[in-house]
Amino acid sequence: MMNEASDESKAALARFQHDRLRDVSGFDECSLCERTMAEARGDEYALMAMCQGNDMFDSAMVCIDCMQEMAEIISDETRQSWNRFREENFPGVPADFEPMPSRPAPMIF
Ligand SMILES: [Zn+2]
Repeated sequence: MMNEASDESKAALARFQHDRLRDVSGFDECSLCERTMAEARGDEYALMAMCQGNDMFDSAMVCIDCMQEMAEIISDETRQSWNRFREENFPGVPADFEPMPSRPAPMIF
């Protein structure tokens, strides 16, 4: 998905994450703001594992509000490209089906 993102979107996401990334690890607190998992709106958050080969060396949580902030800074071109990726790889799932984030914005570590 990141290969299909515009340079503008990659730079915007990298800048956002660089500016906000906190020195926390694990799932207790959001990596990009001070919300705890319990404070994440609607109990919605993303859990991530950073791996090298078969080994996980860190884990992180990002709350729904931070995910939405990231989704809002990507370009229309990138959003359309990612929507097309979803439609082509997950046929039959409506674009606005909510358990799947409608506008995902991957983390860039
Ligand atoms: Zn957050």
